[in-house]
Amino acid sequence: MPEFKNLTVSDFKKLFLGGYDLNDFYSTYLDWLKAADEKINGFLYLTEKTVAQSIAEIKTKPKTLPLWGVPVAIKDAILVKSERATSASKILENFIAPYDATVVKKIKAAGGIIVGKTNMDEFAMGSSTENSAFKKTKNPFDPERIPGGSSGGSAAVVGAGLVPLSLGSDTGGSIRQPASFCDVYGLKPTYGAVSRYGLMAMASSLDQIGPFSRRLEDLTAIFDIIRGADPKDSTSQTGPASNQTNLNKIKKKLKLGLPIECFDDLDPKIKNLILEKIKSTGLEWVEISLNELAQSLACYYLIMPAEASANLARYDGIRYGLSAEADEIWSVYKKSRRRGFGQEVVRRIILGTFILSHGYYDAYYLKAQKLRQKIFSDFKKALTRVDLILMPTSPSLPFKFEEKTSDPLAMYLSDIYTVSANLAGIPSLNIPIGLIEPPERTKKLPVGLQVIAGLFEENKIFSFAKILEDANH
Ligand code: GLN
Repeated sequence: MPEFKNLTVSDFKKLFLGGYDLNDFYSTYLDWLKAADEKINGFLYLTEKTVAQSIAEIKTKPKTLPLWGVPVAIKDAILVKSERATSASKILENFIAPYDATVVKKIKAAGGIIVGKTNMDEFAMGSSTENSAFKKTKNPFDPERIPGGSSGGSAAVVGAGLVPLSLGSDTGGSIRQPASFCDVYGLKPTYGAVSRYGLMAMASSLDQIGPFSRRLEDLTAIFDIIRGADPKDSTSQTGPASNQTNLNKIKKKLKLGLPIECFDDLDPKIKNLILEKIKSTGLEWVEISLNELAQSLACYYLIMPAEASANLARYDGIRYGLSAEADEIWSVYKKSRRRGFGQEVVRRIILGTFILSHGYYDAYYLKAQKLRQKIFSDFKKALTRVDLILMPTSPSLPFKFEEKTSDPLAMYLSDIYTVSANLAGIPSLNIPIGLIEPPERTKKLPVGLQVIAGLFEENKIFSFAKILEDANH
């Protein structure tokens, strides 16, 4: 039996091309996965039925398929047909997905095997996965700390070496921030680069599905599989392929911009590590200024709850999941929602409803939309001077459980560097750049570098990541 931990996509491919039997492999691998996950609680549940089905299906297909036999974990907000899909909310506790999300369909068609659904903040609202109604996911580097969020489970299972690939969703940083806290790559693609069909909507104008992996080549491989226009999502379009084979050849002329706003007050240890890595690439870099960056968090926390409150109206106790008994329809709505939604979700629904209400719409929502346009222009201007914008993914190292739960604003501040890429719709990648010792001198913790490019310029980001990887190996 092979060593299961830390296997990469190419390890899996070698194994199966070498003749290893798929049934034999998965019968022991799933047991190992269950046991290994007990340390981190990254999975809400394994999808054994889907595994059995996929094994039967791919056996008739050529082993040269890009993900033939490769296990993939999926955030519980993304639908996998006939499996539960709860978004870590009590209101959907027993909901079974009636169809596959487009991304899931594509992974299955590429030979991938969906092995489980991962834990998350309820309806993707949060930065620590502590808002899950079901489980606490632990950081693979320190069990006393959170894995980040909202896609904390997807980041943790890849970071802990349980699976080579997973998918998450990112509305304001939910792929990049947990990727940074779990020492893995995490990509938020350009808005529209990946179909959102089958993703439970949080804030539809900001949401994007994206992958996690420990290796750059695995990340670009899965991105190529899931991206592209989908008739079921009218906001999706087909951008350029990831040029995987050309990553080595790409010109080393990328010019980098570092926004002064992000580095001035940054923890010196994080700052030094980032600067050291940038210097190791030998690329030219300049300081830039993003004037609207300071406003982006306020802008995000107006637009996101407004859209989320509208999207979450569908969970009414009638159409999906939990349904409370009552004599008349309004009481069914009220009781089901009161019982089914957690505190953070309720907070955002109230906030969003207020923002959209008559008389406040212009003062808040419309103003935020105007600011959003300015944030986009700010990036656009900066990206005429430089090819890529580099900044920390998170202002802090992974924090301890309950450190920020009593103070929602402190939790929201975790998103300070990530929300602007969602507001502007542009792609952004977390690159794991190493571990540092926190001030308390406990276990070493990961640091992530965020790399941002213009619309559909994922390839520039991948080229930089490749240059960085080559310079540090
Ligand atoms: N942490 C952010 C929030 O709570 C981002 C969430 C996300 O990207 N889904 O809204």
